[in-house]
Parts: sequence; C-alpha cells; structure tokens
Amino acid sequence: MAQQQQQQQQHTFLVALDFDNTLIDCDSTSHMMEQLAPAESATIEAHWNMPWNELNDMLFAKLYAAGVSKDDVIRAVRTFAFNPDMRQLFALVKERGGDIAIVSDANTVFITEFFASQNATHFISDTASNPASWTTDGRLRVAPRTNAATPHACTGTCPVNLCKGFEVAQYKTRYDRLLFVGDGERDFCGMSKLGPRDAALGRLGYSLESFLVVREPQRVGELQAPLLWWRDAADLITCVSQVLGSDSIPLIK
Ligand SMILES: [Mg+2]
Ligand SMILES: [Zn+2]
Repeated sequence: MAQQQQQQQQHTFLVALDFDNTLIDCDSTSHMMEQLAPAESATIEAHWNMPWNELNDMLFAKLYAAGVSKDDVIRAVRTFAFNPDMRQLFALVKERGGDIAIVSDANTVFITEFFASQNATHFISDTASNPASWTTDGRLRVAPRTNAATPHACTGTCPVNLCKGFEVAQYKTRYDRLLFVGDGERDFCGMSKLGPRDAALGRLGYSLESFLVVREPQRVGELQAPLLWWRDAADLITCVSQVLGSDSIPLIK
C-alpha cells in the first residue's frame, strides 16, 4: 500500500495557473470596479504599486460605503471573461492524472466564487492566494497571503504579500513535475523556481513578455525550465500536451 502510494506520488504532476489575465481573460479587480463603481478605476491606476490585497481591501471599503452588497460582488464575479477552452484544459490535466492549482494575487473569494459559478470547483486541488472573507454586514476583507512580519527571501519581482516562487517551492516538495502558467512579470519568480523537467508557460501580450523579451532578456537565463509562449487557451492546451507528451523538452531561449 505504501509502495503503491509512493508510485502514485512519483507520477503526479501539477499545473499551477495564475488567475488574472491567465485563467480568466481580464483583470478581476479592474473588471469588478468597471461593473460596480467605474469611477474607482482611477483609484486603481493611482495606487497600482500598492500591495494588491491592501488596494482591494480599500476598494471594497469604498464599495461597501457606497451600498454595494455581497450579492452584487458575487454577481460581478460571474461575469469575469472566461474562455471555455480552459475547461478542456482542466479535463485534459485530470485525464492525465494531474492536479490543478491557482496561484494568484487576486483573493480566495473571487477564485472560489468564480469556480463555483463555472461548476468547476472539483477541478481545483489548491488555491494559493490572498485570504478573503465577508464581515457579518457584507463587506469583503482581503488579507495578505504572506505576512509582512515574516518576509519571503525573494529578491525578484514579487510584492510583499505574495511570493509565487515560495509557493512553487512548496508544491515541488509534493509533485514530481510542475507546469507553471502566467502572464505577468510577477509570475517570473514562480517560473524561476522550476527545474529542467518542469515547464514555464508564459502568455504573450502581457507584462511577462515585455519583461523577458524587451526589458530584461538576460533574465531568461535564470530559468532552468523550458519556456513556452501561448496566446489563448487553445494554444495553452497545445503547449501542455507537448510538455506532458515528453519527459523533457528542449530549453527554448
Ligand atoms: Mg496575471
Ligand atoms: Zn518571489
């Protein structure tokens, strides 16, 4: 029995996906504000560099003060742009015996409610994100995933409240192989903790591409894992199939 479990463990793999502009085709916070309080879009732009959980907590205080209810927020979550091909990706990963996790600087309420609205909760094994909860009177509070009192050792592109490299390092102790999917410069730290048999899957057209292709191309050298680029969910399925179809694939740099 123990040997059987060990064999299963050796063959498991994890596909870890970022949420905003990766799993969904929009930025969840920006979309939320466009739906519920368009005038607050300027607040997001003005505080773009604030820790994302703090900015969201501040925005939800404003929504609450303006009379926006919990139901209004959940209804807006249901309108996040979602490419149905992503569901095919989930099915493919499960069919091959893999797990799926979300690693995101959004928050656990957005992610949980979104998967529930898609009847897709059963596909997700783990969510590493800023913990969110409702107050008894219906205000959404968003706390940091990583406490500032116990800072991560990351020297790269991560905000103080979440280090995707730290999350990837944790997953690597539990899975034989990891595929990390993201669109942003802040996904680079997660990708940099992957090994040669893992894969980094970067979305074209977002800040990861401008970071690695235009501004700091030398940093691609920090990746041990092959880097594959994708544009939409159908492309991503092709990339994931390619990675799973081989023990290792050549490093693309
Ligand atoms: Mg993203
Ligand atoms: Zn980091």
